[in-house]
Amino acid sequence: MLSIPCPWCGDRDETEFRYGGEAEVAYPADPDAVDDPAWREYLFVRANPKGWFKERWVHTAGCRQWFTVHRHTVTYEIRDPQPIGEGAR
Ligand SMILES: [Zn+2]
Repeated sequence: MLSIPCPWCGDRDETEFRYGGEAEVAYPADPDAVDDPAWREYLFVRANPKGWFKERWVHTAGCRQWFTVHRHTVTYEIRDPQPIGEGAR
C-alpha cells in the first residue's frame, strides 16, 4: 500500500487517491492541425521508465485537488509533491 503525500493534506493512504497518468503531457497547440497518428501519440503513448516517473494524482477522498509527484517505478518511493502549476518542470 502506498502512502501518498498530498501537498495540502499530508501523507494519506493510496485508496484516497485516483491516478491521473503521466504528468505534463502537453495538449497540442493547434488541435485542428493534428493528424490521426499524432492524436494517437498524444492520447495513448506514455513513457514507461524503470526509475523516476512524474505523474498526476487527485485526492478524491480528501481535498479533491490535482497534484504531481515523482514516483520510482521499482521501489515505489514517492517524492516532490507539487500542486499543478506551481514549480512545474
Ligand atoms: Zn488532499
